[in-house]
Amino acid sequence: MIPDSFKQDLLNRVDIVDVISARVPLKKSGANWVGLCPFHGEKTPSFTVSQTKQFYHCFGCSAHGNAIGFLMEYSGLGYVEAVKELRPDERKRAASPDEPDLYELLARAARYYREQLKTSMRAIDYLKGRGLAGKTAARFGIGYAAAGWQNLATVFTDYGAKALVECGLVIENEGKRYDRFRDRIVFPILNQRGLVIGFGGRVIEGGDGPATGEGKGSPGPKYLNSPETPVFEKGRELYGLPQARDAVRAANRVVVVEGYMDTVMLAQHGVENAVATLGTATTPTHVQKLLRQAAEVVFCFDGDAAGRRAAWHALEVSLESLSDHKAVRFLFLPAEHDPDSYVRAFGREAFERELVQAQPLSAFLLSTLASRSDLLTLEGRSRLIAEAKPLVRRVAAPALRIQLVRALAEAAAMTPQEVARLLELRDGTIGRTDRAPPAREERAAAVGSNEAKLLRALLGLPELAGAVPVEWLPAKSAESAAIRSVIERLVSSTGHPAPRPVSSAFEGAPFYGLLTRLEADLLEFKLEIDDLRAEFDGAIRNLERERKVLEINGMLAREEKAGLPERLREGAALRQRGEPAPLPAGTETPSKGL
Ligand SMILES: [Zn+2]
Repeated sequence: MIPDSFKQDLLNRVDIVDVISARVPLKKSGANWVGLCPFHGEKTPSFTVSQTKQFYHCFGCSAHGNAIGFLMEYSGLGYVEAVKELRPDERKRAASPDEPDLYELLARAARYYREQLKTSMRAIDYLKGRGLAGKTAARFGIGYAAAGWQNLATVFTDYGAKALVECGLVIENEGKRYDRFRDRIVFPILNQRGLVIGFGGRVIEGGDGPATGEGKGSPGPKYLNSPETPVFEKGRELYGLPQARDAVRAANRVVVVEGYMDTVMLAQHGVENAVATLGTATTPTHVQKLLRQAAEVVFCFDGDAAGRRAAWHALEVSLESLSDHKAVRFLFLPAEHDPDSYVRAFGREAFERELVQAQPLSAFLLSTLASRSDLLTLEGRSRLIAEAKPLVRRVAAPALRIQLVRALAEAAAMTPQEVARLLELRDGTIGRTDRAPPAREERAAAVGSNEAKLLRALLGLPELAGAVPVEWLPAKSAESAAIRSVIERLVSSTGHPAPRPVSSAFEGAPFYGLLTRLEADLLEFKLEIDDLRAEFDGAIRNLERERKVLEINGMLAREEKAGLPERLREGAALRQRGEPAPLPAGTETPSKGL
């Protein structure tokens, strides 16, 4: 894992305005920069970037974060990748002379395979026979690994180098070394930064080769991928994603298919927003990555039993990533077709029509469950609920979950309340509203409270963390709890740069939303150092005042028991009605509070 200090160091060296303006046009507006939000459609700019505070906030869709967060959202990068993206030179520096750069080796191999394709009539004929255009082959960098055991020795003078095995190009077996890809069409697999991280290889024989078993003499499995290596993790990567990125963004939809050729041929026919899983089942990481880039993910699988199984697995791993703003759909092509053959036979429009009509996740879920039970019997309907339970409980989208419960109730001839109880949905999904979001008025009031102001000042000036008298904070307020956590985090790393923005250290915390709203205030009300200092000082004075009132009240209560003079008790009554309490000499009377 990347240490936090490293991350903050990095964030201190980059300028978020450079990072974002390289990707989104920004205009100066007062102290901030503004532009059209890349995360939601808009005609007037509400996407705001603060150079002094080094974070962005969209007043339209509440997108919020620092430079790393921006790259993750914008380019769909994982955290580690985003950090790397911010440090493009890191790779070069890390590679010392005796530790060759795996990316570089893979890039050289990719170039070699591309050159080889030009010289092999057999490979060219095969690809032409499959309808592949030269332009498409170039776009995807498709190449050819010729027959022969050690062709790569012509590219790499040190064929015995450990790194060649490490990056998956060469296999070592009983002391012998040989090329992994032999007499195969090779499809370079790129990461989000466009670097080659592995290859997929397909046999040239037109027919279907044996599914498994790579013996000498036989062409081996039809498809062969690079193994997992330090630079290639199959469960994270998707074939064709860098090439598809613009089209995915434009369509706000990404299509997931099973094969390289499906992705490539769809692109050739104008469906450029398709990616492929890499010979592995869909993972939750895949789904999260895709849902970050588009509002809709369509899994397109073959209509046969294997395709249905793969689709069901994709459904299961999607449940926890669903949100009510995003949709996952399933498209099953006619049994005799895969996306490649379908788009060649019927063209782009027909395929796009299929996409639009693809089955929503909910329909696929319910129809599959219903088909497994006999809903005409009591037992069958009970079984439906039992089978639905582990799935529906994982659905992260609240509105969708409610509707699934209703649909299940109908199918099982029960009430939604009964179904919700059987599914043990704790959050009052059905029939109760104990988790309603705070009303707008409540939120406005909260933002204006003394603690909120204190917290807001801290978010803008984290270096003040040590100056907050934590023991004065009211015990039972959500904001106090947030302030305590923030201070603890800031003080424990004194001497290190503070997280930028401070909220970035609290993703997932119950008060994360509060922090981002207050940080947005910093931009909206253009609160700079002087304003924040004033707000901070005012809030501390109010805290002190409240503490004194509490102290005096406590003292009075004790004294009362012991028989307090009448005069003092009158004073206490006055104070309890909200009159100002006495302040030590030299302290200003605060204008607001209590
Ligand atoms: Zn936005």
